[in-house]
Amino acid sequence: MKTISILGATGSIGTQALDVIAQNREQFKIGSISVGSNIKKLEEILEQFEPKLVSVKDDSDRLVLAQKYPHIEFTSGARGLIEVVSDDSDMVLTAIMGSIGLEPTLHAIEQGKDIALANKETLVAAGEIVMSKAKAKGVAIIPVDSEHSAVFQCLRGENLREVKKIILTASGGSFRDLSRSELSDVSLEDALNHPNWSMGQKITIDSATMMNKGLEVIEAKWLFDVDINQISTILHKESTIHSMVEFIDNSIMAQIGTPDMRTAIQFAFSHPRRMPMNNPMDFSALSQLNFKPMDLDRFRMLAYAYEAMEAGGTMPAVMNAANEYAVGRFLDGEISFTGIEEIVKSRMDGHAVVENPDLETILYYDKLYKTDMR
Ligand code: NDP
Ligand code: MG
Repeated sequence: MKTISILGATGSIGTQALDVIAQNREQFKIGSISVGSNIKKLEEILEQFEPKLVSVKDDSDRLVLAQKYPHIEFTSGARGLIEVVSDDSDMVLTAIMGSIGLEPTLHAIEQGKDIALANKETLVAAGEIVMSKAKAKGVAIIPVDSEHSAVFQCLRGENLREVKKIILTASGGSFRDLSRSELSDVSLEDALNHPNWSMGQKITIDSATMMNKGLEVIEAKWLFDVDINQISTILHKESTIHSMVEFIDNSIMAQIGTPDMRTAIQFAFSHPRRMPMNNPMDFSALSQLNFKPMDLDRFRMLAYAYEAMEAGGTMPAVMNAANEYAVGRFLDGEISFTGIEEIVKSRMDGHAVVENPDLETILYYDKLYKTDMR
């Protein structure tokens, strides 16, 4: 029996993880959970599960909940996230959105807990710090992101020195068939309408801007310890091949399956074993698989991610923070879709890189580049 705590239990990944746990009560048990402000969803969770500790974002919610559920322990705020990962669970699923996941993830690693990692922003902001701490503590970081789960599965039993290339597939997001000039007047509603996956709002926008693939290239660099230039991307609109690894003998391994995040979540929980799932892929219903080379001029945010890694130091954290800020403003209806890209570019252009940043420096710039700065 593995006890799993979840940061971000009310989100898209969080609720699918709870579903995996509910379907496999003999193997998995819930530990503690954190949520943000979706108290209605939290109350649904409490009907089904008995978490040891529940952290909510606002202390006012904590006070009301503590009255209503006297048998459950509640906490709140940034300290609450740390408390959730300090329980006696075996694994922490990081399904919270954004670089706010960085400190609790580091804390979980410090406690020796294995990490099922969905929160990619953490590795983008501080990949070197997170991976070296995990290594020092002997903690496994198991990817939940579908592309990285695919690569992780393709690499099982392989020698990393024999890897030529990691090929991340990209669905292309909501506007994959539009030209750059057609992007200027797209709506928020259209941007939130992803063709293949139902996900949280921020990652859905990141998919439409292609920043999601940029974040994933950086995530792959840290997870698999390869050179950034060994990671390539390809447009594959069906999201059937979740990603591929090309070896030095030109053999390519691909992981294929129904686009269902529960497969990757369950594999992260059950690793190194596999467990049955109820989402088989019907090959006979697949008429074709399409591939198109990635166009870095059309999808400039992906080019920015490579540039951020080339610049190194604090630049990936700055890129990520600027993107979180810009996507937030787009979701609030304050800027246009192409405004996201403009903000990220101008904030990166204006940043003087600090080499080999420590955690404090990264947190400083993360906070700074998420503010208005106008
Ligand atoms: P959602 O927006 O659906 O969920 C985010 C979760 O984080 C919610 O539980 C939310 O709480 C909580 N949260 C957000 N902000 C705060 C905060 N300031 N304090 C405390 N809790 C907070 O996101 P997703 O599930 O889509 O994504 C989560 C992570 O997983 C992201 O890093 C994303 O990139 C990654 N990911 C997601 C995939 C997907 O299919 N969705 C695929 C691959 C990776 P509440 O709703 O209660 O406010
Ligand atoms: Mg992904």
